[in-house]
Amino acid sequence: MLYNSTQNKNEVVSSAQAIAQGISKDGGLFVPQEFPKYTEDDFKALLSLDYKGRAKKVFSDFLTDFTKEEIDDCVDSAYTAEKFGSENPAPMAYAKLDGKSLNILELWHGPTCAFKDMALQILPHFLTKSLKKTYDGKDAVILVATSGDTGKAALEGFKDVDHTNIIVFYPVDGVSPMQKHQMNTQEGENVKVCAIKGNFDDAQTGVKKIFTTPEIAEKLAENNMLFSSANSINWGRLLPQIVYYISAYCDLVNDGKIAFGDKINVVVPTGNFGNILASYYACLMGLPINKFICASNSNNVLTDFINTGVYDKNRHFYTTISPSMDILVSSNLERLLYKLSGDSDETTRDWMNALKTEGKYEVSDSVKAVITDKFFGGCCDDKQTQATIKRLFDQEGYLCDTHTAVAVNVYEQYVDKTGDNTPAVIASTASPYKFSKAVLQAVAPNAELPETEFDMVDMLNEISKTAVPAPLAGLKNKTARFSDVTEVDSMPQYVLGALGIE
Ligand SMILES: *Cc1c(COP(=O)(O)O)cnc(C)c1O
Repeated sequence: MLYNSTQNKNEVVSSAQAIAQGISKDGGLFVPQEFPKYTEDDFKALLSLDYKGRAKKVFSDFLTDFTKEEIDDCVDSAYTAEKFGSENPAPMAYAKLDGKSLNILELWHGPTCAFKDMALQILPHFLTKSLKKTYDGKDAVILVATSGDTGKAALEGFKDVDHTNIIVFYPVDGVSPMQKHQMNTQEGENVKVCAIKGNFDDAQTGVKKIFTTPEIAEKLAENNMLFSSANSINWGRLLPQIVYYISAYCDLVNDGKIAFGDKINVVVPTGNFGNILASYYACLMGLPINKFICASNSNNVLTDFINTGVYDKNRHFYTTISPSMDILVSSNLERLLYKLSGDSDETTRDWMNALKTEGKYEVSDSVKAVITDKFFGGCCDDKQTQATIKRLFDQEGYLCDTHTAVAVNVYEQYVDKTGDNTPAVIASTASPYKFSKAVLQAVAPNAELPETEFDMVDMLNEISKTAVPAPLAGLKNKTARFSDVTEVDSMPQYVLGALGIE
């Protein structure tokens, strides 16, 4: 299987090259030239496999330049019970809310308690093997812009991995105290963490700029290094996410929640559009998905896009209690547009250029038609998010985080509006303990909040009688290693300084 850039079809690479490089030289994203199609028998065969077995099958169909041994090694090292708490890293939980069934796909049992672990625990294994195939002897420099969860998950995935360096930038006021503490206490000899004076989009734009500045690339080359990306634009991030939708479908069948062949809906709390795109890709492979329900917080640029076909980032940026979705430029949407425009690099390039210059583009009527048919976009604000957390907790004793609550809220809106009762898989993307303050305020609105983040964790634990994930409980006694803050414009110098190659 070969991959090409969404902005230049003539840029054709192997999967190893796509993963090692992260982003195409023309600024486009790598996409498979075609998707494997699974037959009924293929899906049936997956029912009896465990998560690792399902993952190995999917990866072997996309990473055709990897040997079976290499893929086995990647999967067996990444999805261990030690790292994910059990043999199934992505278990289902079942609950009801006002009579509606919620099939909750819990994607946060990994080392950093957010769904990013599902991809970032395996990406370093994909990447080191890809580097060996394509750029043997070079060190990869991983630059990450994070709205909170990616940064920590990438740091955990890459810490002390040979031939890699990782530098993480986060918006100084745009992440939760727990997220900040998770990152600033990161261990590992090859890691650096820095806050920037700006929001997530500034961080992401800053990183993209560094990637595409030729002088910086030359500096790295002179020092036997090259940039790679652990952001959700990297194909090695997206691919692992396809697996858990397929696996969830198998689990629903095995648990007797649906019959084999039944359609499902998926509901995804969305920021950069990576997670929901993975479900779309699973559908292209034959997974019977009826609707993609795209849930946003007050930063509802995607809701408007799905409803009107106009993507317009010229709007107020809100800092919300679901910070991992505080995003106005959803990078992975580019891959969907490429697909929906009939694999047209020219059209994709035009829209992306318009986004760059005017902050806005409008898709064609034919693309609009597919989006309206397959996607539903909805949003809710912080108040509604907290009300949803409380209702779900009061009715079922099930505690969900703020991002998941946005998805649950939008799912309810969808059912109320359409009456569609197709069983829905709701992606649950973080442990509630990662956002203790907002969750605590939701379930116990009258309680007096304690001062520190860790006291809030304890209080939430007492009130909810749910377990605190071990990796979060263990952070309490760690001291910060990093406290750097830089201007957006100084990000390039920071990177060169961190690598010791100014
Ligand atoms: C990253 C993240 C999201 C958004 O996922 P995308 O793939 O960027 O759309 C949602 N919730 C949480 C908790 C996250 O960390």
